[in-house]
Amino acid sequence: MSLANLKLAAEVRAILTDLGVKAETLTGGSLAVRSPITGETIANLHEISAAATDEAIAKAHAAFLEWRMIPAPKRGELIRLLGEELRTHKDALGKLVSIEVGKVTSEGLGEVQEMIDICDFAVGLSRQLYGLTIATERADHRMMETWHPLGVTGIISAFNFPVAVWSWNASLALVCGNSIVWKPSEKTPLTAIATQAILEKAIARYVADGGVVPPSLATLLIGGRDVGEALVDNAKVALVSATGSTAMGRKVGPKVAARFGRSILELGGNNAAIVGPTADLDITLRGVAFSAMGTAGQRCTTLRRLFVHDSVYDQLVPGLIKAYGSVSIGSPLQSGTLVGPLIDKGAFDRMQQALEAAKAAGGKVHGGERQLADEAGDAYYVRPALVEMPEQSGPMVDETFAPILYVVKYSNFDTALALNNDVPQGLSSSIFTNDMREMEAFVSDRGSDCGIANVNLGPSGAEIGGAFGGEKETGGGRESGSDAWKAYMRRATNTINYGRTLPLAQGVKFDL
Ligand code: NAD
Repeated sequence: MSLANLKLAAEVRAILTDLGVKAETLTGGSLAVRSPITGETIANLHEISAAATDEAIAKAHAAFLEWRMIPAPKRGELIRLLGEELRTHKDALGKLVSIEVGKVTSEGLGEVQEMIDICDFAVGLSRQLYGLTIATERADHRMMETWHPLGVTGIISAFNFPVAVWSWNASLALVCGNSIVWKPSEKTPLTAIATQAILEKAIARYVADGGVVPPSLATLLIGGRDVGEALVDNAKVALVSATGSTAMGRKVGPKVAARFGRSILELGGNNAAIVGPTADLDITLRGVAFSAMGTAGQRCTTLRRLFVHDSVYDQLVPGLIKAYGSVSIGSPLQSGTLVGPLIDKGAFDRMQQALEAAKAAGGKVHGGERQLADEAGDAYYVRPALVEMPEQSGPMVDETFAPILYVVKYSNFDTALALNNDVPQGLSSSIFTNDMREMEAFVSDRGSDCGIANVNLGPSGAEIGGAFGGEKETGGGRESGSDAWKAYMRRATNTINYGRTLPLAQGVKFDL
């Protein structure tokens, strides 16, 4: 179907009203929401003011005081129901993700699957918020470490994972006994409204089953940066979990730190892969193509820098250039499409500027041209660009949130490893090799300095079981699996004296 014939606004209305969202929520407001598929406006939402944000946070704090008293496995039951509701509404929410962000169908559905997966993880976690018993030097004493609910968790999310990132935070925060306040990207508020409606269905079932949910346990704030700022500045928000650009994190991090709040910062990446002389080039080509072109280069873990050993450069790179020239670009709703649109004109302009800068730095550009402009003048489709660079320089050390893959030839493994690490960001990385020494060195203490280091797969496409996040200008936060839950709780060390004397630690005497 041609782009011009898509009826996206009507589809969006149908999906949202089916989820129970009132029709008037979608019209008459100041926040115009557009679909990158056609560029058309699909809703006009009402925004919350900064003052009303503070009121909402005060209510969320009151909810926290009640929710923390509910036993954790019972809190987990709410998340189990959320997982069930997400399963029921997976197709609808997945489609909405595709319409609002421009992700191809399998990725829209994959995003919802990720939400379901983290719910399953969090349900198990709700019975595993383990502390420690620690050996004590004092007789008849017991020392332990216990974990307690923290407070209001503020979630600020980016456009490119409009709902999965919420679910990583929300499911963990809620089983940990916190209330949540969510400020989604102003570019993708409809998926947030849908998700909130799905959560409300889970809450209704929980309450119908006899569960207690305080009002304002989970609040959604529709608005722009000013709403995010109000959330960041509010001392009642114990934890700010903010996902977005490094520029955003540079503002948010110091503000939260200045009021001694806690933050999880999930910021920009500039992810690399090394292709060694022994690499399986078939796997490499497919791994590179998916990581670099998938989601139209708009994943935080998108592959942006490729270092190819000179002995395999001529076998791999022409094949990649061919794949770049032939990959299917178009409506993400159409089966067979692999590359959907960029989010907006700003993203397109930044991509073109980066390509010009790459040329000025000696780069040879393949692709990068605008596509389908005659079908949809307000949508921004591009052919992904592969740029052969003489060295790592110019725009290559910055994150441009678009499908540009810079390729550099290398001859020495240690040089490639140094290049992998020689950027300010530290999110994800990978190596394609069958050489055990290279493989182990890459994941060792002297290896990749990123939060994610993969072998024989690309840097993108993480599973929820691992801790997700990165180092350096990526912000240092960890979300999702492993022990990331600890960031959502406060830790206490408890020493209990069950004896009849009062021995002091370190042999200290204080005899009255
Ligand atoms: P963005 O920084 O423009 O916006 C992200 C969110 O922050 C939005 O909700 C926005 O309203 C809010 N915001 C912006 N400035 C703020 C401020 N001063 N105070 C409070 N809130 C503020 O990012 P984007 O364009 O939506 O997303 C793309 C970026 O996100 C890329 O850099 C990408 O790498 C990054 N990202 C990182 C991860 C990760 O886990 N590391 C995941 C997804 C996206």
